[in-house]
Amino acid sequence: MSNARQHMMPVYNPPAEVFERGEGAHLFTEDGKQYLDFIAGIAVNALGHSHPDLIAALKGQTDKLWHLSNMFRTPGAEQLADKICERTFAERVFFTNSGTEAVECALKTARKYHWANGAPERVDIVTFSGAFHGRSLGAINAGGNPNYLEGFGPALPGFKHIEFGDHETLDAAVDDKTAAVFVEPVQGEGGVRAIPETCLTALRALCDERGALLIYDEVQCGMGRTGQLFAHEWAKDAAPDIMCVAKGVGGGFPFGACLTTEAAGAAMQPGSHGSTYGGNPLAMAVGNAVWDIVSAPDFLAQVREISAVMAQGLKSLEDRHPDKVLGVTGKGLLTGLRLKSAPKPVQNACREAGLLVGVAGDNVLRMAPPLIIDQTHVRDAVSIIDDVLSAWQPAD
Ligand SMILES: *Cc1c(COP(=O)(O)O)cnc(C)c1O
Repeated sequence: MSNARQHMMPVYNPPAEVFERGEGAHLFTEDGKQYLDFIAGIAVNALGHSHPDLIAALKGQTDKLWHLSNMFRTPGAEQLADKICERTFAERVFFTNSGTEAVECALKTARKYHWANGAPERVDIVTFSGAFHGRSLGAINAGGNPNYLEGFGPALPGFKHIEFGDHETLDAAVDDKTAAVFVEPVQGEGGVRAIPETCLTALRALCDERGALLIYDEVQCGMGRTGQLFAHEWAKDAAPDIMCVAKGVGGGFPFGACLTTEAAGAAMQPGSHGSTYGGNPLAMAVGNAVWDIVSAPDFLAQVREISAVMAQGLKSLEDRHPDKVLGVTGKGLLTGLRLKSAPKPVQNACREAGLLVGVAGDNVLRMAPPLIIDQTHVRDAVSIIDDVLSAWQPAD
């Protein structure tokens, strides 16, 4: 397989291993080597690999109906939208194929809301440093990461980027031109940083006071990942007007959704928006199965329990390697170790030892294991990272 990548646009630079099969929290390469998967397709495989209920849901649907487009009604999408709206702040759902498309729908919905309410000048989207909202032109402009914008033409107007945690600048930035404040309750890519719960509550109040909408990007931190069905549910009185979900909601089948309140979504009418594949029956079959499992209170309680074990394990690494680990970061099972220097060598050494983890920000080793992990998985992962950190000589 050594030349097999020559026709891939080289925007990724994967290691040599070729993965063939997954089972629960483990992955297997072509040559049979086993890996413990603590990144789960970047927080996508919420129920691990090859979950029997998801396989059954997908197989059941493959024999019935694959695609119709939104020209026609299908049961799966309406059922899932009902379940989502029964359990969350949402009253309207638009299904997409990815997180980025959920983000695009959210940004359009926010601007259209103000346009329809007599304030077409309200177009600004306020976002935070370290944000990641996807890779479309709209999403990279919302994210504001200069690395992702370079070479892709002029920055789009209508986006304001605020330093994470700078309350004063935020207060000044949300004005009568603001359409929405757009934020990840726990930043993933930006370094696995959780916004304090009291800040989310204050942000909700600020948006209400200024007439701006509040949009959450829960593409990565939602769907049980932090131990609540959605991460903002940890905070009091902090429900959004609009929320983007994807990744975990499909458990490995690509789909996402933009959720809105009745009021925030009211201007999105026939012709306002669309997606050929959105609400595809295969995706909806898997999505319904994932939702039924992850939204169960006992399942979420189990995620909170294993999250505490994980936090303890990571804390022990911080205690044992104070010269190399600056701290533990994140929330629930979206978590990381802030290291003294760039985390790539640690990530590579972990992989060689049979543990797959991610990186985030400048110096964070990111972990987003399947939500179904048990104590043995955590113990194995912590022990591998411990050995790797012992051998690691951080660059100064
Ligand atoms: C991954 C991610 C996205 C983009 O989702 P895609 O499915 O890759 O388009 C958007 N926002 C956040 C917070 C993400 O983690």
